[in-house]
Amino acid sequence: MLDQRLIAEMRAIVGPDGVFSDEEQIRTYETDGLASYRQPPALVVLPTSTEQVQAVVRLCHREHIPFVPRGSGTGLSGGALPSEGSVVIGTARMHEILDVDLPNQRAVVQPGVINLWVTQRVAPEGYYYAPDPSSQQVCSIGGNIAENSGGAHCLKYGFTVNHVLGMKLVLADGSLVEIGGAALDTPGYDLPGIVVGSEGTLGIATEITLRLMRKPEAVQTLLAAFATCDEAGEAVSRIIAAGIVPAAAEIMDRLAIEAAEAAVHAGYPDAQALLLVELDGPRTEVVSQLERVSALCREAGATELRLATTDEERALMWKGRKSAFAAVGRISPNYIVQDGVIPRTALPEILREIAEMSAAAGLRVANVFHAGDGNLHPLVLYDERDEGAQERAEELAGEIIRRCVAHGGSITGEHGVGVEKRPYMAVMFSEADMETHQMVRCAFNPGNLCNPGKVYPTPRLCGETPGVYHPHPLELAGVAERF
Ligand SMILES: Cc1cc2nc3c(=O)[nH]c(=O)nc-3n(C[C@H](O)[C@H](O)[C@H](O)COP(=O)(O)OP(=O)(O)OC[C@H]3O[C@@H](n4cnc5c(N)ncnc54)[C@H](O)[C@@H]3O)c2cc1C
Repeated sequence: MLDQRLIAEMRAIVGPDGVFSDEEQIRTYETDGLASYRQPPALVVLPTSTEQVQAVVRLCHREHIPFVPRGSGTGLSGGALPSEGSVVIGTARMHEILDVDLPNQRAVVQPGVINLWVTQRVAPEGYYYAPDPSSQQVCSIGGNIAENSGGAHCLKYGFTVNHVLGMKLVLADGSLVEIGGAALDTPGYDLPGIVVGSEGTLGIATEITLRLMRKPEAVQTLLAAFATCDEAGEAVSRIIAAGIVPAAAEIMDRLAIEAAEAAVHAGYPDAQALLLVELDGPRTEVVSQLERVSALCREAGATELRLATTDEERALMWKGRKSAFAAVGRISPNYIVQDGVIPRTALPEILREIAEMSAAAGLRVANVFHAGDGNLHPLVLYDERDEGAQERAEELAGEIIRRCVAHGGSITGEHGVGVEKRPYMAVMFSEADMETHQMVRCAFNPGNLCNPGKVYPTPRLCGETPGVYHPHPLELAGVAERF
């Protein structure tokens, strides 16, 4: 519980309707999309401007209270999970698109703007915002930045980091910095590159300059059915080896297809694996690429090819894929969404390994993946009412991630580390690597008040010397502890 005086000060900054302290109101904020972790915050504050964010953060800094930035709360790794006794600073009321500059292909937005709103705003003029997470109807630009979110079309156009030009960032003491800028390249360190993907641990982004793209002249979406996931993966390898970079190349396995069908009735072909390929660009290029991609899919063993002939058909093909995570709820009471990366060529091998591990654990695994960039989303299905099932599911999900690293991949492709993947950071990084990360955190957020306990298993106290660990004098005095 925070004392009433402080709550009154917060109310004076954001207005009485922007502060939640009742147990029931606060409960909404106790978790994010990773609902197995829960911790109610001490207070929730909803500012509307950069100045209000600064004032709220200054108060937290003055009182040494940790704070947690929060967008829409759809994160899947616990990034917006409150830490004990923390103030959640939600951006839901910072939802203005502040400026659109089409001739220079830029937009300036507040962090609570929903991803899809940006495209909706500029689409009539023939522009769009490229990063398209499946959650784009609800997730915020602030959250996208923090997670460096990806989406089906990031294969060709890059992740969020490639579409953020600059931002205003409120640091952990309430000071304001502007990093990056409207130009495509600014001198000095690439600070937006450091902040994008930092999972809310370096400050709160309050105004973000985004890059807008021109809508391509033509788009073609092709659905190819295969008898095995190996064949679908082989088709992707052949397409890319042929020098074609599709806008998207997505694979769903049998279980994921079943789930998507049950949820949205996409009318998918009866197959063990589906490959969704989207091509975009100048019309003549797309027409010739489509011919080549169709041939390559057939050579890899496609049993059926379907081309979307209308916008409605295209939307339906995508609807099944984009709702695949939520759809799995139709076929299993509980599931873990995993997120790992492997080199694309390791796809057949890792899928075989997942199948073996799934059989050994007695748990079903549905696979949905951004095949073009090797980003896997195995969905580990379980029923929490079965004794030990959750533990086995977590173990299996963890083992999948270890295998991804063993194949030369990564513990996360787009969902972030948050609290969920902290234990796996050491699987991927050495102590020295993580020391360097910690030095960055210390530079932006020296007191570790901004989103503490995220990403790193044992954050060092700032001021400690990197290298072999020596207890900090504060630890020896019992004032602070390593966790
Ligand atoms: C059904 C479903 C499908 C999804 N599909 C995808 C997908 O295809 N691709 C993908 O990448 N992700 C996907 N996600 C994950 C999630 O939607 C993204 O990570 C998204 O970017 C989170 O945005 P949010 O607004 O919900 O952020 P939150 O969950 O509220 O927060 C996420 C992180 O951002 C930080 N944060 C929020 N706002 C700010 C700010 N202004 N400044 C600094 N830090 C901030 C938080 O502290 C936290 O660490 C999916 C999630 C769901 C539930």
